[in-house]
Formats: sequence, structure tokens, C-alpha cells
Amino acid sequence: MSVLIVGSIALDTVKTPVEEHADLLGGSASYAAVGASFFTDVKLVGIVGEDFPKAHIDYFGTRNIDLKGLQIVPGKTFRWSGEYHWDLNTRETRSVDLNVFEHFNPTLPAGYAASPYVLLANIAPSLQNHVLDQMQKPKFVIADTMDLWINIAKEELLKLLKRVDMLILNDSEARQLTGETSLIKAGERIRKLGPKYVALKKGEHGCLLFGEDVFFSCGAYPLEDIHDPTGAGDTFAGGLAGWLASNAGEGPVTFGQLRKAVVYGSVLASYNVEAFSLERLRSISLKDVDKRYAAFKAMSHFEVLE
Ligand code: AMP
Repeated sequence: MSVLIVGSIALDTVKTPVEEHADLLGGSASYAAVGASFFTDVKLVGIVGEDFPKAHIDYFGTRNIDLKGLQIVPGKTFRWSGEYHWDLNTRETRSVDLNVFEHFNPTLPAGYAASPYVLLANIAPSLQNHVLDQMQKPKFVIADTMDLWINIAKEELLKLLKRVDMLILNDSEARQLTGETSLIKAGERIRKLGPKYVALKKGEHGCLLFGEDVFFSCGAYPLEDIHDPTGAGDTFAGGLAGWLASNAGEGPVTFGQLRKAVVYGSVLASYNVEAFSLERLRSISLKDVDKRYAAFKAMSHFEVLE
């Protein structure tokens, strides 16, 4: 089953303590769509300007990403620039140029409204709500968000939470949203705001998954070299949604499937941070993903105590 993904498509400038690269393919929907495309067909909803390189559009096309929902309009593509600190865990946004994104109205093309799986990648919650308004009867809706929206669009975000099956956010955002210092309490508090499931990301420390009376804690695949953490969260969300759409299909989504989806999301995110932009994801296949999944399982597994 395919997954509909809406979010930002960007040209990023990224600075790490050792390297800086400009005008890279980025954006929450770009990472999420390519992540999901390892497992299933993707319907992409987004906007770019006329300056957006055709090579990127061609690349999406090679990944089974349906581009009927991609608007190409006069003007400049959304641009974001960020700089990472030494630990590569924290970063500062240097600049944001909304450009064509400022007037983005995500209208769904014919056929998109019936998509069973939906990933509302990180964009303004009002736009995420607008996409949901157009959906017929989605089977499973996942939303991602960020600190900015908790700060400036909390009401819209709270409205959205009542309409989604799963929320993905990181540890500091979960604390910010709930005012809880304990991540366990924060995860549970967010479930009470609407989503049946919450995936709480802890960067290099893995992820916590919350459901009703069920809980899963997953590490992160240990890496020796991280080159660019940009898009790790989006790739995680895309991998998770894509695996779920491909494997849960028409049946009910179970917690066991969500556990597996979270691990596949983590594996894809671990590949993504090994190079700038989507370069690493371009160079791997599903076979590599499965291989790392198996290695991750082997190193995380332990026996029941006698
Ligand atoms: P992440 O590293 O998962 O937080 O995602 C980074 C990506 O999010 C970059 O490629 C940016 O282009 C994109 N991005 C940054 N700020 C925003 C925003 N306000 N709305 C949508 N996308 C954004």
C-alpha cells in the first residue's frame, strides 16, 4: 500500500564543525519520501520554485515517488541553513527563507485523498490539518512536528493531535510540549492529547515507543562517523511509515508491527547521517537496510534471565 507524504522540500546549507555545503537537496518531505520509498510507493505533496534543479525531480522519479502532488511555481524554493555544534547533536538555525513555501496550499490531486497511510512530515500544523481535511478515510495517520510549532502554533498542533494515530517528536520537544522532565511521563501525556501511539526520538540514544499499556525502547545503531545529522528525524519517520504501509497493509496496525517499523526507521536514519543531504540513501539498497537491521537485532538482543 502506498503512503501519502506532505512536508517541506528545500535547498539546505549545512555547516558541521568540519565541513560546509550549500544548496543541498533537503526538506522534511524529501528525506521522508526517499526513506519510505525503500519499502513502498510514495505520493509526494510539496512545493518548489522554478530554481529547483531538475536533477532532484528526476531522482524522486527514480524512487517510485509519484509527483502529481508536487507544485512547481514561479519564485524561489524554500531555503534553510543550519550549523551543528561539536557534539553534532545540537544545532542552530542560521537562516530560513520561506520563499514559495509562504503561500503553499497543499491541494491533493485526484486519487490522493483515498490514500490509506499518511505521513504529515514536519510543516506548519495548519497545513497538516488542511491535508487531513481533504482525506477520505485514512487508515493510519502519522505526524511529525518541531519546536517552532510548539512555540508559535500550539493551538493548531493540539487540534492536529486529536486527528492522528501517531505523533513523532524528539525528547526536547516532548518536554517542551508537556512541561514534564520525565520522558516516560511526557510520552504518556502526549497520548492523552490524542495520538494512540507516540514515538519519542532521543537522537543518538534511540527511541521510545508508547501505546496503550505497551512500551518499547529501541537503541540507535552505533556509528563511528557521523557527517551530517540533517534529516535523520525525517528519514526515520519516512522509513517507519513506508515499512508500515508495506507490511501492515489492510489489516489492523499492531504494536508488534510498530516496533519493527521503528527499528527500520532507525536503520534508515543511521544510514542518512553518514553523508550530507540524501547522498548516503542514494547509494544503498533495501538489501543493505535488511543487513543492518539484522546486525542491529544481533547487537541489541539479550536472553530472558533464568
Ligand atoms: P531534521 O534534521 O529532521 O530536523 O530536518 C531538517 C530538514 O527540515 C531540513 O532539510 C530543512 O530544510 C527542513 N526544515 C527546517 N526548518 C523547517 C520548517 N520550519 N518547516 C519545514 N521544514 C523545515
